[in-house]
Amino acid sequence: PCSRSSVIIIGAGVSGISAAKTLAENGIEDIVILEASDRIGGRVRNEKFGGVSVELGAGWIAGVGGKESNPVWELAAKSGLRTCFSDYSNARYNIYDRSGKIFPSGVAADSYKKAVDSAIAKLKNLEVDNSKVGEVMKAATEPPSSPKTPIELAIDFILHDFEMAEVEPISTYVDFGEREFLVADERGYVCLLYKMAEEFLCSSGGKILDSRLQLNKVVRELQHSRNGVTVKTEDGCVYEANYVILSVSVGVLQSDLISFEPPLPRWKTEAIEKCDVMVYTKIFLKFPHKFWPSGPEKEFFIYAHERRGYYTFWQHMDNAYPGSNILVVTLTNGESQRVEAQSDEETMKEAMEVLRDMFGPNIPTATDILVPRWWNNRFQRGSYSNYPIISNNQVVSSIRAPVGRIFFTGEHTSEKFNGYVHGGYLAGIDTGKVVVEKVMKEKERNSESQNFL
Ligand code: FAD
Repeated sequence: PCSRSSVIIIGAGVSGISAAKTLAENGIEDIVILEASDRIGGRVRNEKFGGVSVELGAGWIAGVGGKESNPVWELAAKSGLRTCFSDYSNARYNIYDRSGKIFPSGVAADSYKKAVDSAIAKLKNLEVDNSKVGEVMKAATEPPSSPKTPIELAIDFILHDFEMAEVEPISTYVDFGEREFLVADERGYVCLLYKMAEEFLCSSGGKILDSRLQLNKVVRELQHSRNGVTVKTEDGCVYEANYVILSVSVGVLQSDLISFEPPLPRWKTEAIEKCDVMVYTKIFLKFPHKFWPSGPEKEFFIYAHERRGYYTFWQHMDNAYPGSNILVVTLTNGESQRVEAQSDEETMKEAMEVLRDMFGPNIPTATDILVPRWWNNRFQRGSYSNYPIISNNQVVSSIRAPVGRIFFTGEHTSEKFNGYVHGGYLAGIDTGKVVVEKVMKEKERNSESQNFL
């Protein structure tokens, strides 16, 4: 074997890093972090585009200004992260039809209220009949009414794919507050993870040099027994440990990337299958000059089309990076998968047609496009977990529950904050603490038996 350690952490996203830090802070330093890609961060990832840093994954710190402090907001303060306040609730008053007219705000407000009411009514019906859990879970993820017109479809999309907070209390906003801040920092959102990593891994000049972090190590097999876990990577390395913390996404757990020997028990695989994976794609477009309205309450705008989710949700980046002339359009689920499968030229053509519907034929063509592919990335297989609103907590706790010496973490294991960076961060700490206790107990037992001998 390459090495034997107390704990192997698989994945260096926010949850893997926070779990590893928790171990190190509690004196467990013989750890190894195996990360499949060539960088830390996972779904927190920035790239240079059109002269600025854009966030392909997590972009907002959600849940700020409430009674409790969001730990990610605290990390941001520690790193001096540049952010700007961002409020997409106004988007509903900037809904364009295909001829470029904005729907009067009264019409938009009425349609919005109707959609919220019908979603609430649907939820109440579901709560009454909680016995049919499978059916309930399926129904809760589907649009409750059958929106038909383009404006109804557009509102249904923003309500269900972005804003369920108005229908059901969401812990992030209840606990941490309703404000959201867009990350606009050239170092990227990921600098928070570097900051955390530097506190327990050797590093210099912003680079992590510690051999306990191993990049480009794709874990393919976990053999586990009462005595320990053997981890095999794609490049033929073998690692051994007393415990493993597995932080890969639920999409990866649903795929066949990692095999388990013996296989995971049925209660575990069934729970993993029950979790929906949301695909969320932010497409970035760079223009030679600006042609969209800006100013207060204009950061977001909506395109109403007869196909639900067809280039519906738009944002300009003037607030984050003034003068950058970048627009972002968000697609989800089926539309994300469709666009991931086609060429970026085709996507650019579709996006330009939509923009010309809204702003007229004379707008300039985009000079560059960036299309992240979270669904086809075999280390991600989607963007984040999406538990149906009235799912029983049993599913999350089964997904989180350890199997022998393998412990599970990641945003999908957070009952309250799944789908968010802070969910991953807090889940990592929780799992880290559980494993610290296991390691300590085992050490105690071993030293007792040695004393006995
Ligand atoms: P990950 O970040 O996925 O970390 C898991 C790591 O495991 C990855 O680095 C992966 O490469 C690695 N891995 C996978 N397979 C293997 C293997 N076989 N061997 C070794 N390593 C492996 N959250 C917010 O709070 N605000 C937002 O605005 C927001 N927007 C989002 C937008 C998008 C497009 C996406 C994709 C996510 C968004 N999120 C947002 C969610 C947030 O990014 C995640 O909840 C969080 O980053 C997940 O962290 P994690 O550690 O659980 O998982």
